[in-house]
Amino acid sequence: MINGPGAEPADESFRASEVERLVSDIDLDPFLGPRRDPLADPLEQPVDVAPEAPPLLVLRDLLSDERFPELFARALRAADPDFRELFPRDATPVLRDFVRAMRWAFETTEYAHGDRAKVENVVEFARDLGADHRKLELTPGHHQRFGEALAHTLRHLAGRGWDDRLETALGTAYQVLSTALQQGAAVENGPARVGATVVEVLRPTRDVAVVRLISDVMIDYHPGQYLSALTPYSPGVWRRLSPSIPSNPAGQIEFHVRDVPGGALSGSLVRGVGVGDRWVLARPLGLLEVDRTEPFRDVLMIGGGTGIAPLRCLLLDMMRHGDNPRVHLFYGARFPGDLYDLPTLVDLAASAPWLTIQPVAEEDEDPWWAGPRQELPRTLHRQQTGTLVEAVTQWGSWADRQVIVSGSPGMVRATVRGLVAVGTPRANISFDRP
Ligand SMILES: Cc1cc2nc3c(=O)[nH]c(=O)nc-3n(C[C@H](O)[C@H](O)[C@H](O)COP(=O)(O)OP(=O)(O)OC[C@H]3O[C@@H](n4cnc5c(N)ncnc54)[C@H](O)[C@@H]3O)c2cc1C
Repeated sequence: MINGPGAEPADESFRASEVERLVSDIDLDPFLGPRRDPLADPLEQPVDVAPEAPPLLVLRDLLSDERFPELFARALRAADPDFRELFPRDATPVLRDFVRAMRWAFETTEYAHGDRAKVENVVEFARDLGADHRKLELTPGHHQRFGEALAHTLRHLAGRGWDDRLETALGTAYQVLSTALQQGAAVENGPARVGATVVEVLRPTRDVAVVRLISDVMIDYHPGQYLSALTPYSPGVWRRLSPSIPSNPAGQIEFHVRDVPGGALSGSLVRGVGVGDRWVLARPLGLLEVDRTEPFRDVLMIGGGTGIAPLRCLLLDMMRHGDNPRVHLFYGARFPGDLYDLPTLVDLAASAPWLTIQPVAEEDEDPWWAGPRQELPRTLHRQQTGTLVEAVTQWGSWADRQVIVSGSPGMVRATVRGLVAVGTPRANISFDRP
């Protein structure tokens, strides 16, 4: 740095506190050689371990201790520098999901009392998870070090209560689960991740971005499936997003993303996304589909907010067929102006006699702060006021339909519950688990 006349000498202006501030954001750990074990000091209050309790339930209780996510995050970071990249900076939400899954696996196995089908459910779940984790490109070494960090953290939490029974139970359980995870990841061929470039961004409402991308390699997803996306707006945070157009040889993909207040990714994505940004997309998953088995069964689709995306993808795919089951689509949002995709859906319906669209908004009018009022296109049915579940169930049980629900976790829960309450057979309803 060159100092101008009257400037302080460089060594004085560059005080220690300033240096600390400058380097505070730089991760120096990889350059500092072997680190001290972050769990070296015993806990003042380890978890009480009942010596006669079944080992899997003791492990479940150790995982449930509120200190677990923080301690495990530290153990992981020390075990392998790759884990710093694989987890977001705040790994706690991901580790909470891990705790929930492991608790379920341990409990189900313990209470199965030797019922092989129930234990196989757990193994199957791990295989499915492994298929999704393929995007993380984990090696056997990662699995091993993850297991070592897990054992280290649970031992640390148990303190003197840790014994050979727990060591053996954890070793066996982890071996079974990590083998299933690796089997799940190995089932598929082809690239685990595909790069994609943002080529256009539309902002139809204040909190929704429609993002158009071209993927480096065509991703062959079925209409209604979702992809996991890793974006530059929140490093290490994978989120599931549903393409709103069918897969095509040009690699064009469109996502509709809503800013969920307080969310780790969506807000920074909606505000920050721009043309030229690079995303990483993982293999398609999900089972939403229209059953085309003849004779056709009519379809009821219920989409809230950006939950319209996979339904629109299914509809666009149906447009390629000459003959289709009848589709009744309820499309809902909080305010009328949030029904941003209505113009496209109305255009589709104009050339699809089998498609009926029913707009629904919880409020009659847009709020004053929502900006200039958009004129919504006319649909065959007038806009209804209320929640989606109210609007749908007032027409009866729809028991003869195949029902597809897509939206926020709360909307999906309320809608499925409401439908079942009015007599829709649960087996007729499909949705992707939030
Ligand atoms: C199968 C599947 C497909 C999805 N497809 C899309 C899509 O096409 N477009 C899209 O915008 N989102 C979609 N999502 C939701 C998306 O994956 C993220 O959960 C969402 O963008 C919020 O991410 P976040 O990191 O900001 O918030 P998070 O940190 O993940 O969540 C913060 C909180 O908000 C809740 N939440 C998550 N989603 C919503 C929501 N939509 N409305 C209200 N609360 C919510 C979470 O349960 C959590 O409590 C899909 C989710 C699933 C499971």
